[in-house]
Amino acid sequence: MAIDLHVHSTASDGTDAPGDVVRAAAVAGLDTVALTDHDTTAGWAEAAAAAREVGVALVPGAEISCRSNGIGVHMLSYLHDPEHPALLAELALTRDDRVDRARRMVRHIGADYDLLWEHVLEHVGDDATVGRPHIADAMVARGLVASRDEAFATVLHSGSRYYRPHHAPEAAVVVRAIRDAGGVPVMAHPRAGHRGRLVPDRVIERLAAVGLGGLEVDHRDHDPADREALRGMARELGLVMTGSSDYHGAGKLNRLGEFTTSPAALAEIVDQATGTEVVRP
Ligand code: AMP
Ligand code: ZN
Ligand code: FE
Ligand code: FE
Repeated sequence: MAIDLHVHSTASDGTDAPGDVVRAAAVAGLDTVALTDHDTTAGWAEAAAAAREVGVALVPGAEISCRSNGIGVHMLSYLHDPEHPALLAELALTRDDRVDRARRMVRHIGADYDLLWEHVLEHVGDDATVGRPHIADAMVARGLVASRDEAFATVLHSGSRYYRPHHAPEAAVVVRAIRDAGGVPVMAHPRAGHRGRLVPDRVIERLAAVGLGGLEVDHRDHDPADREALRGMARELGLVMTGSSDYHGAGKLNRLGEFTTSPAALAEIVDQATGTEVVRP
């Protein structure tokens, strides 16, 4: 059983359409894949249709942007009700502010580089959640940088003078909203330190007390010591441990199935969820 619980499509900042991600998962030999686009469930229907077609199980999900004491946190949500009003409202607010924020960043970048908002829009899918990778794609297309990686290492890095934050709800609020919507919250890449500041362990303990269900342990951005520390914390707090690729298509090196989740961990997530069902082929 090969289970990958964290992948992105053109509904946010991946480069494969939702159906293509699922088809690629089948080709990669995965039995189960979760679609977890940033702050949206817009790709679910297309991914579900492809899952039935190619015989892969689909876990509908999302990666929800949040904040804790000003530190960015990514919260994976699995199997929540996509119509739940409180969660819907939070996600819409974040998506709207992501557009304003990207426009602000592009205005500042445009003072030094030959880049306009129109150029970025050419790389954003219909109804997609806008993110820095779309700015990177426009810069690559215009020959301003060689790759998404180079863009993130320079102008788009959270320490860059062009960087601006976007609105994101408090992590504890999001954990409760996901549970209210029948979903299971799993903190994404808790130790991915090169992206910016990390939340201290006591924040994870506090989130566990308000309903956090799991930690993403095995991830490309974690070294062996990070994984060991996260395993210890998950055991101590009674949290599910997952492993995933964080696949973004051609935009990042991450390959589908490069890290996977055990069937027992997935069963625990499915057991806790009441918001929607796994799409079975
Ligand atoms: P944003 O959501 O707009 O703040 O942008 C963050 C997104 O950019 C995350 O989904 C990351 O997966 C992606 N990202 C971060 N670093 C890189 C990188 N070096 N190359 C490509 N994508 C990246
Ligand atoms: Zn992303
Ligand atoms: Fe993330
Ligand atoms: Fe992600």
